[in-house]
Amino acid sequence: AKMEGRGTWRFFEPAMDASLQRRRALELDLREAMAKDEFSLFYQPLYDLNLDRICGFEALLRWHHPKRGLVPPDQFIPIAEEIGLICPLGEWVLNRACEQAVTWPSEMKLAVNVSAVQFRDPDFIDVVVNALAASKLSPRRLELEITESVFLANSNETLATLHKLKAQGLRIALDDFGTGYSSLSYLRSFPFDKLKIDKSFVRDATATHGSKSIVRAVISLGKSLGMTTIAEGIETVEQLNHMRAEGCNEAQGFLFSHPVPVTEIAAKILELRNG
Ligand code: C2E
Ligand code: CA
Ligand code: CA
Ligand code: CA
Repeated sequence: AKMEGRGTWRFFEPAMDASLQRRRALELDLREAMAKDEFSLFYQPLYDLNLDRICGFEALLRWHHPKRGLVPPDQFIPIAEEIGLICPLGEWVLNRACEQAVTWPSEMKLAVNVSAVQFRDPDFIDVVVNALAASKLSPRRLELEITESVFLANSNETLATLHKLKAQGLRIALDDFGTGYSSLSYLRSFPFDKLKIDKSFVRDATATHGSKSIVRAVISLGKSLGMTTIAEGIETVEQLNHMRAEGCNEAQGFLFSHPVPVTEIAAKILELRNG
């Protein structure tokens, strides 16, 4: 066992070193990325299944690294959270997204992702209020997407923050629903407007019985609690038809469109205006 242990150690040590080095390097670069203007927002259409047309966009952050190319948000957002960069970065996202969305047709809403760390920041409400005021975007057009990880913290504070945000007139969506720490009691206690069914369930809903049942239950739960439901990660017509048949309100995914740069927004609106 000892020999095996040593063998394994030798084998893995350089690999661990490399990933640690990559992380350190990303961390250093990330600290400068904002000043160097390396971030941009892409937008993915949200599609209203009842009206059968596009109803808005979700802003998705992109980091154009000068040497590595596009670094996916799943790789740099956790680092930004750890090193305390997520709040300024999230503020930049909100400001930029609101500025851009105010130029769209007024029936287009804007969904913005909010990290749990950012959500817990005492200044977060001011940041949202300021972004709305500076851009003059109507709060009714803004939807903040939070994940179940916000509930890991003090739930009284979480609840107070949610109420203050809602008092501004904006909506709150619970993202990646079903993948996290969720307890159904959260749904009773917290004022969500929307449940976003995670793409893992959407992917399997046409294949496995378990996912199909979960999707059906989430949609009916949403309905009975007065919440809108949206299915993310729709890639096939089959998945789309399934979600429509189940009574899901909105859909989003590669079938409609990949996330696009802001310059392609007008074309997407035209393209997806009618079925
Ligand atoms: P998310 O909020 O769940 O966003 C959906 C992700 O699924 C996006 O990945 C999107 O490009 C991808 N996606 C959309 N349609 C499909 C589809 O049909 N199939 C598949 N397989 N994927 C699809 P992306 O842009 O790489 O973002 C990953 C995650 O990074 C997001 O997941 C979100 O948690 C986070 N993120 C992105 N932008 C921001 C941001 O501005 N702030 C914060 N805090 N997090 C962000
Ligand atoms: Ca999201
Ligand atoms: Ca999601
Ligand atoms: Ca996610």
